[in-house]
Amino acid sequence: MTPHPTQIERLPDAVGVQWSDGHQSKYSYQLLRQKCPCARCQSEKSDKNLLRLLPVDPLVKALTVVDIQLVGRYAIRLIWGDGHKTGIYTFEFLRSLQPSPTKTVPS
Ligand SMILES: [Zn+2]
Repeated sequence: MTPHPTQIERLPDAVGVQWSDGHQSKYSYQLLRQKCPCARCQSEKSDKNLLRLLPVDPLVKALTVVDIQLVGRYAIRLIWGDGHKTGIYTFEFLRSLQPSPTKTVPS
């Protein structure tokens, strides 16, 4: 069973997620925007002739999450500073972006 977030926090430059299995993740806005799963962003990415430039400055509006909404019990929707809000990030997808570190035997 996929772990689910027990707490989702909007940080100044990232989204912090506390998972039900104790794992903690931090997703930078830039990463989340690059990975935006909405149809529009996905088709832009698959169009190799289109050069897609994302602002590097994390303070620009396009790279700022202004709101996080819960979608059912399986995903969150991110509302971006530039008005983009069609990306639904499922918990499974978020978790796959930052899987648990492989457990190492304590030395
Ligand atoms: Zn998108």
